[in-house]
Amino acid sequence: MSAQTETQSTAFQTYQDLLAAIAPTGESRPIKDPATGEVVAEAPVHTAADLDAAVVAAKAAQPEWAALGHEKRSEYLNKAADAIEASAEALAELLSREQGKPLNGPNARFEVGACAAWLRATASFALEPEVVVDDGESYAEVHYRPLGVVGAIGPWNWPMMISVWQLAPSLRMGNTVVMKPSEYTPLSVLALAAVINQALPADLLHVVSGGREVGEALASHPEIDKVMFTGSTATGKAIIRSSADTVKRLTLELGGNDAGIVLEDADPKAIAQDLFWGAFINTGQTCAALKRLYVHDSLYDQICEELVEVAQNMPMGVGLDENNVLGPLQNKAQFDIVADLVQKAKAGGAKVLTGGNPEPGQPGYFYPTTLVADIDNDNPLVAQEQFGPALPIIRYNSVDEAVEMANGLDVGLGASVWSSDPAKAREVAGRIEAGTVWINKHGAVDPRVPFGGAKQSGYGLEFGVAGLKALGTPQVISQ
Ligand code: NAD
Repeated sequence: MSAQTETQSTAFQTYQDLLAAIAPTGESRPIKDPATGEVVAEAPVHTAADLDAAVVAAKAAQPEWAALGHEKRSEYLNKAADAIEASAEALAELLSREQGKPLNGPNARFEVGACAAWLRATASFALEPEVVVDDGESYAEVHYRPLGVVGAIGPWNWPMMISVWQLAPSLRMGNTVVMKPSEYTPLSVLALAAVINQALPADLLHVVSGGREVGEALASHPEIDKVMFTGSTATGKAIIRSSADTVKRLTLELGGNDAGIVLEDADPKAIAQDLFWGAFINTGQTCAALKRLYVHDSLYDQICEELVEVAQNMPMGVGLDENNVLGPLQNKAQFDIVADLVQKAKAGGAKVLTGGNPEPGQPGYFYPTTLVADIDNDNPLVAQEQFGPALPIIRYNSVDEAVEMANGLDVGLGASVWSSDPAKAREVAGRIEAGTVWINKHGAVDPRVPFGGAKQSGYGLEFGVAGLKALGTPQVISQ
């Protein structure tokens, strides 16, 4: 197998260079910058026939890739990370223009950096056969073999990073990959794949840039062996249904509505910044962001004051302005969801501490950073996933009450407990129904640490050795 690197190893210097590399040759549609309304570029409109062609090519390339073994494949993953780093600034600018997120803060440059870091970490994990019985009479060991072709369907909030979460373990395990990006952010994923493909042998990684009908075709495709899906719980359920006839393996990272509980011994001043970013990272458009904040009555007013202070000093605006750390909502539908939920909070008698009134007539989908206090736990802004910059703050009086409210929904992706007493925080963490509970932080994912949802936030694990195993089929050798 010869790496494409040998023929085209040039870094992309500008986002226009990237766009030139992914320019559509057939049917296309315009993609607009959510901050300005200006057209960023045309994106290809691929169809189910394009999907079929990509799957045929990916299937043909898979056996040779699998035969290379873990060490060689890991070398390629590291080369892909090098390629991303060489084109990092061009990727970050395209991501900012298409997704809306600012270059700075935990946003576009951070996301591109995370892509390289995740590839390197995924290349580094050791995966040995596991001996499960060796008692002198019987012997059994478990191996993880490649599955074949993995289909990856992604969302629009972290389009590059989530693509890497899907493609890195898939490739490392000897599979080939066909990706279906969100129709809102196809350019970011096409560009990322163009950069990664500079470092990989041909035909391992394909992107089919179509709408939900292409996603449906992928989820039921007879030659796709596993689907990695990140997106809403409703779409996850549709994928379970359409994948049933082919008994596809699934990893489903679905919606969340993460609770944070501030215990009465927490220090409001010390935790305010971290609470803020736990909720407002990527302008609130993050699966495992803090989306409901429960605060003990004794600290409630102080926490509200500290958060207002932080919120009012965080600049929001066009992503390419180096000063901004918060951006627009990515699309009109999401803007409308956030505006409607804040409206319902107001109608329910809640108090808007800051924000809550978007400026009419502006070109971008900017919704101001919004904090809502004195809100009932059953208000829609609490009970539904807002996926935007509006945080409800709910008062509680006993830890039992807070835990009951935190566990009261049918989703459980992440959660957090905030306290000056680590033992107490761990005790409360153990009572929360969520895939991850962070202490004195929220949403801090790590490529070495398994990540996945409880309840209707999905099933299957990503990251670390557990994430690698999810991209293999276990095979027992017994004698
Ligand atoms: P979405 O479910 O609307 O779309 C996700 C992808 O699914 C898109 O590529 C879309 O084209 C495709 N799709 C739509 N219908 C389909 C179908 N019937 N069959 C196959 N594919 C289909 O999600 P979104 O709005 O892009 O993303 C936001 C949601 O994703 C939020 O709920 C958020 O919490 C969740 N999310 C979860 C994680 C996680 O790790 N758990 C990470 C990021 C986002």
